[in-house]
Amino acid sequence: MDPAVVSRIAAGEIIVAPANALKEMLENSIDAGSSMIQVLVKDGGLKLLQVTDNGSGILKEDLPILCQRFTTSKLTTFEDLTSIATYGFRGEALASISHIAQVSVVTKTKLEANAWKAHYSHGEIASTKPNDSGEPKPVAGKDGTQISVENLFYNFPTRLSTLRSPNEEYLRVLDVVNKYSIHTEGVGFSVKKVGESHNILTIRESLSLVARIGSVFGSSVADNLISISVPKDAAVPGLESAHGQVSNLNFVTNKKKSSMVFFINNRLVDCDPLKKSLLNVYNAYLPKGCKPFVYLSLAIQPDHLDVNVHPTKKEVRFLHEDEIINYICQVLQEKFNSLDDTRTFKSQVFEAKRPLADPQSKKRKVSLNTSDLKSFSFGAPKVHESKLSRVDVNQTKITSYLERDVTEGQSSNEFTTIINEKSQVNLTSILDLRKEIELNVSKHLTSIFSNFVFVGIVQYSARTLAIQHDISLFLVDYGSLFYELFYQICLSDFSNFGKINLQIPLSIKETIEFVSAETNLQVPNLEAVLARFVEMKNMYQEYFNIIIDSNDPQDPQLVGVPLLVNRYVPSMNKLPLFLFRLATKIEYTDEGKCLAGIIREVALFNVPEALPEYDEISNDETDDHLVSYEKSIELLLKTVKRRFLGTKSFASSVIEVANLPNLYKCFERC
Ligand code: ADP
Ligand code: MG
Repeated sequence: MDPAVVSRIAAGEIIVAPANALKEMLENSIDAGSSMIQVLVKDGGLKLLQVTDNGSGILKEDLPILCQRFTTSKLTTFEDLTSIATYGFRGEALASISHIAQVSVVTKTKLEANAWKAHYSHGEIASTKPNDSGEPKPVAGKDGTQISVENLFYNFPTRLSTLRSPNEEYLRVLDVVNKYSIHTEGVGFSVKKVGESHNILTIRESLSLVARIGSVFGSSVADNLISISVPKDAAVPGLESAHGQVSNLNFVTNKKKSSMVFFINNRLVDCDPLKKSLLNVYNAYLPKGCKPFVYLSLAIQPDHLDVNVHPTKKEVRFLHEDEIINYICQVLQEKFNSLDDTRTFKSQVFEAKRPLADPQSKKRKVSLNTSDLKSFSFGAPKVHESKLSRVDVNQTKITSYLERDVTEGQSSNEFTTIINEKSQVNLTSILDLRKEIELNVSKHLTSIFSNFVFVGIVQYSARTLAIQHDISLFLVDYGSLFYELFYQICLSDFSNFGKINLQIPLSIKETIEFVSAETNLQVPNLEAVLARFVEMKNMYQEYFNIIIDSNDPQDPQLVGVPLLVNRYVPSMNKLPLFLFRLATKIEYTDEGKCLAGIIREVALFNVPEALPEYDEISNDETDDHLVSYEKSIELLLKTVKRRFLGTKSFASSVIEVANLPNLYKCFERC
């Protein structure tokens, strides 16, 4: 057979999709000591995959052999060969890619004054025009390397036909960058699609591991991590170390797939046996089907690794696999056992903490069985508000950013609260939204919520509380409950809210820039956004008592927010995100959508934050905070009793965990 065909087939075994090629390119850039790596993608990587780094660059004299097999500059001694072998590819990644795509390189080392550009085809440096030697050409460029892979599989139609849609291939490319960006601290990453002005992923170089996880997997993950560190143990041969971050036992997600990210010797790998065993550990504590997040970085003696179980080298095997996996699982298990809330889960008993309704009874236990727990935690929470209230670990920064306001909020007379005079509303969009609720009311739910006894908060982090009604005990997702309550208040009191004056005006511009920087969410046209706030100022004031001071139209200030429940002041930690979402989520062109959108944001802003579990944070300061937190929950529950309409859609946020007749039946059997 023609050797070129053999090479092509071999290459197509190793590089089966754009994501495989990208992984190799990322690894090269990381190995070259880069601190910033930018990825540009067109058509899911099929038209273009381009990686630009600021690493060491490639010497001009190495360029002719760059894409040849086994001849890279690294491969000088036998020792090099064995250690490179542990990474899977023995200097053949770029070679493989050059057999199934057009590769071009622009690279510059510190030593040289200019960059060099070269093209490759079928393993060899190539000319792009006739009468051209294919010698590298001098070009202007910065230190580092840019490798472009174009028209992947152009000569390999059978491989092309097995690919998924460009969008799915793109998601796999993004997934690889996401995972490397978590693992590779000290290196910044960005991903952009050709033709789009903003990055899809931006990870700054200085970001911590936990912040990286938050940026990629969301704040609900980052807020629920515990760190794991597995030391070397003489009884476990081959394992040098393992460490990482894993989700704790309060973490639940409605994602379909669990996220387990494994790196072995700094290479992203799959390891199904490790994944299964870790899931087993979680399953002892959490309902079956739970989807934990795991990031683990393992260092294993290179000569114990076998990366050749699969051509793409993604799945690895290692010697003493069972011992190593058992050992890691054991460390995780011990970690769980040492955490307080774990014990509660283990015995499947929730303690209603610090009940307010009856201070005499310190501990009321609410027993749950796993299926209840499951249906509750996975019962499609309508409001994914945790994402909004705590963006990620940067929350601490948001808090300190607003410290002045927060502290003032606590000495509450700093806020002037003003109740407006009633005015009549006849906007059809509002009347329609009111009607929608009326049509949806469940008499049964409404009667439960008009007459109950508050048992206590069950979990601060998941925002659940227990109430008793007649002979039944209910668990309620109070994130959803209060969201619904505020939503209803917004509709019924529309344009008649009280007002909370902010003592110190908040620059809308600074706040949006701040949130944007902390969350990596871009605001494409900030000037236009600010102009909108100024333009809509009267509407905001008249309908919502959201007061904007536009003395300086370039830098409008927020000076007042609505008061929805008398004496209830929402957490000012949430103010930056509230503003950010008003800036980005509202469709101003359609009256109905605009008002409904603002109402939703006002309601979200007012919902009490999820807190870390009491046991984890107890000290004098947090105790004070908890007391005021619980007072506000009590206050809101009183409002619930007075005016809350239980709608049918809200039913999924409430579950009945016990009722007396059933308990009696249970005892009779004993
Ligand atoms: P390997 O990484 O296994 O050596 P590759 O084909 O992936 O094989 O890369 C070949 C060689 O090209 C590398 O060993 C490295 O010397 C050089 N190289 C590739 N990409 C870069 C880069 N982004 N920066 C610096 N050198 C690079
Ligand atoms: Mg490589």
